[in-house]
Amino acid sequence: MTTLADPVPGGRPGDVDRARALSGELSGQGVHGVVLSYVDTAGIGRVKTIPTAKLASAAAWGVGMSPVFDTFLANDSIVTTDVLGSPDGDLRLYPDLDHLVVLAGQPGWAWAPVDRITQEGEPHPGCSRTVLRRLVTEAAERHGLSFEAGIEIEWAVGQGPSATGDFVPALHGPAYGATRQVELSDYGADLLAALAAQDVDVEQLHPEYAAGQFEISVGALDPVAAADRSMLVRQTIRAVAGRHGLVVSFAPAVFAQGVGNGGHIHLSAWRDGVNLHSGGEGRHGMTAEAESFAAGVLAHLPALTAVTAPSPASYLRLKPSQWAGVFTAWGRETREAAVRIVTGTTGLRERAANLEVKPVDLAANPYLALTCVIAAGLDGLTSSTPLPEEITGDPARLGEAEAATRDVRRLPASLREAVEEFRKDERLRAALGPVLADAVIAVRQGEIAAVEGYDDEQVAAAYRWKY
Ligand code: GLU
Ligand code: MG
Repeated sequence: MTTLADPVPGGRPGDVDRARALSGELSGQGVHGVVLSYVDTAGIGRVKTIPTAKLASAAAWGVGMSPVFDTFLANDSIVTTDVLGSPDGDLRLYPDLDHLVVLAGQPGWAWAPVDRITQEGEPHPGCSRTVLRRLVTEAAERHGLSFEAGIEIEWAVGQGPSATGDFVPALHGPAYGATRQVELSDYGADLLAALAAQDVDVEQLHPEYAAGQFEISVGALDPVAAADRSMLVRQTIRAVAGRHGLVVSFAPAVFAQGVGNGGHIHLSAWRDGVNLHSGGEGRHGMTAEAESFAAGVLAHLPALTAVTAPSPASYLRLKPSQWAGVFTAWGRETREAAVRIVTGTTGLRERAANLEVKPVDLAANPYLALTCVIAAGLDGLTSSTPLPEEITGDPARLGEAEAATRDVRRLPASLREAVEEFRKDERLRAALGPVLADAVIAVRQGEIAAVEGYDDEQVAAAYRWKY
């Protein structure tokens, strides 16, 4: 479980003693430094690091970092909003000790996600981890709901290092192919060992469809922990690859054409330990609340894509008939629907039933993405939004008239369209708060401007190694 308390100057109760003991233990294990990890609005993981001996001081007083990173772009240039992007000011990064992990893929290092507060001890409204934590707290208090979430990770493994920036697949076998598993046998085994040493509950690891592509799925956790885990697992995948002389790309589109890297979100809502997505009177065992939750996600999807598919490169991936889910449609186990209802197999349903949101990639800040998906679902649930008719098969095959009757709409085909939808979606903007919502708009506009005049290949190349 994630601690729900905000950091405070002087440290959360108990944290400083705990950090002191931890830093002794870590030093004894040969850990020299701690990586403090957060994710900016553009979806780039950013870090500061501290020597292990400074962990207690970081737990008490945080570590300084400029708030300017909230409006950084993927290319490290900076845009501004009314309140963000100025060179003034400082924030304190506080490690969450509950989620501190010794990095098995980077000997000598530990890792922890951070929350950011001001020097005056106020939560920073640009801190996406805090915003998600607050939404989860509010859902528990107001609606008695909790959530379990998991983020799938797809990535392409390339021969490295590439001086030209090109991607050369490190393996050649067919999609899901046994040959691929053999080609990267040592890498796969070391990766599983590192994740096990970090107590990451891996469900499965498999060779995927695109050139050099793999996928890993991990067990569900509370939403904040799931977002933390997504960053930790990616850090580990990259580190272990580096030790094998390989490079990895989590970019939505490693190439301009073809299947991309997704970062599908799995989510279930629970009340009093009961999964609302199973055992109900609705379709496929959904309760009425679960149906409305799914309907809320569907209704907000066009605006959600500005958060879940935040890069110009995301729209190279978001194409019909590539399992990325680009229509406002839902279906049971339908891999072309943006919302796929996963019932689980007989015997496992109470535990396993969930919904999967597919138009999500790993350029998305996972804290922002989960905040918006949960807020969208809650909006549906609290207003009892009816879930439309289910689709089967690929919605791309529906004729215009039939698609219109069923309210199956194509999701934004460009980041520009997505931002326009996001601007109109007051519910999602409110979920983020005005500071972060404005940052999302400013950063997306910055990304659009950064690739003005680029062709698709140039867009793919510009973001290939950023995530
Ligand atoms: N690679 C696909 C995507 O971009 C997903 C494939 C799958 O369903 O696992 O979303
Ligand atoms: Mg996949």
